[in-house]
Amino acid sequence: MDLGIKGRKAIVCAASKGLGKGCALALAREGVHVVITARTAADLAKTAEEIRKATGVTVTEVAGDITTEAGRAAALKACPEPDILVNNAGGPPPGNFRNWTREDWIKAVDANMLTPIELIKATVDGMMKRNFGRVVNITSSAVKAPIDILGLSNGARSGLTGFIAGLARTTGRHGVTINNLLPGPFDTDRLRSNIATRARNSNRSAEEEAEIAAKSNPSGRFGTAEEFGAMCAFLCSVHAGYVTGQNILMDGGQYPGTF
Ligand code: NAP
Repeated sequence: MDLGIKGRKAIVCAASKGLGKGCALALAREGVHVVITARTAADLAKTAEEIRKATGVTVTEVAGDITTEAGRAAALKACPEPDILVNNAGGPPPGNFRNWTREDWIKAVDANMLTPIELIKATVDGMMKRNFGRVVNITSSAVKAPIDILGLSNGARSGLTGFIAGLARTTGRHGVTINNLLPGPFDTDRLRSNIATRARNSNRSAEEEAEIAAKSNPSGRFGTAEEFGAMCAFLCSVHAGYVTGQNILMDGGQYPGTF
């Protein structure tokens, strides 16, 4: 299927690894020129070169922390008028809410709620004026089925989700869709490091922990960044113009509800 977005421009945040990288690669394969960001310049340069070689599109690297004003300004300078914006950043750490300070909460809200809102604020009016735009926010399955130790994530991402639900209904008639993609367990560095932490607290090896977690999923495995990227690219396609304000769960069937 031709997604109809060849030649479009995208900003993909937090994209040197994992799900962000999967999205950048999938968009680039459709002929979208991408600006990718991450904090570690060396990893970012490696990923940029990999995407260039695989696809031939223009890949611009912007090293920086997307949760800071300077990081966002640098990404927007590299691509002031994106047609596509993929919002992503690292997730907050697990813990017990009794130990979290106001600063911990502000950091989580900054990264996982206010950063995407700021980037949308900077780009959505231009998209609406040009009558085409796609925004995809990478959130988490924890928005739909909260995970107790991930309270910072549950809270901050739910704030974003509520905001998007209202905004997305105001942009559709101007050709701009805004949707959230909710990953369950995907095989990325973040997932592997969570599993390693769990293994340290049990008598099992990281490999054993990973196998148990993968087998417990109805699909019997973790998702891949390629699968995630493909869904993102479809949401950014011309064919998805009637999908807006949705929370699309990708979790191999882990969420047990009917809806
Ligand atoms: P990952 O494999 O650790 O990759 C994270 C990417 O984001 C890296 O490229 C990292 O590069 C970049 N990054 C992190 N913080 C950044 C920041 N402040 N500014 C710019 N770039 C930043 O993680 P992932 O598994 O793809 O997860 C992506 C998001 O999905 C996270 O919010 C995570 O909580 C959420 N999620 C993931 C899963 C899963 O199973 N993988 C499940 C639910 C939710 P640098 O470190 O160099 O900046």
